[in-house]
Amino acid sequence: MAVMITDLCINCDACIDECPVSAIAGEGDSPRDDWEFTYVKPEKCIECVGHAEVPACAAACPTEECIVWDMPYTAEFNDYYVNSSDYAISSSKKRGLLSPEVSPQTFRDDITIEMRQAREAVAV
Ligand code: SF4
Ligand code: SF4
Repeated sequence: MAVMITDLCINCDACIDECPVSAIAGEGDSPRDDWEFTYVKPEKCIECVGHAEVPACAAACPTEECIVWDMPYTAEFNDYYVNSSDYAISSSKKRGLLSPEVSPQTFRDDITIEMRQAREAVAV
């Protein structure tokens, strides 16, 4: 990813229009059938690098600790994204083209792997 929206989300949609790369899908548009909340598409999220000092979705979110850090969307974490039901990437028809090893995304290197593994809330 990326960042991840957790089940603390109240589906207010405040984050959706703030995303510079249209990576956020509202509840009704989520590519995950089993997910009742707003969803970040990890294959599109660039962690707002080059667009904002902090992830714009988290800055707009009214729900404390709702948006958390996830792993970089890079080849190193290909299996993590492709084999998990947490992401629609695992069921996408374009899986091969969108996978992290084929289409890696930018990420913030000041956010440590430990912070990402712990899914620490994005501080704004
Ligand atoms: S971190 Fe930025 S690019 Fe990623 S979903 Fe949030 S607003 Fe979009
Ligand atoms: S702004 Fe926060 S609470 Fe509102 S839809 Fe986005 S993640 Fe959910």
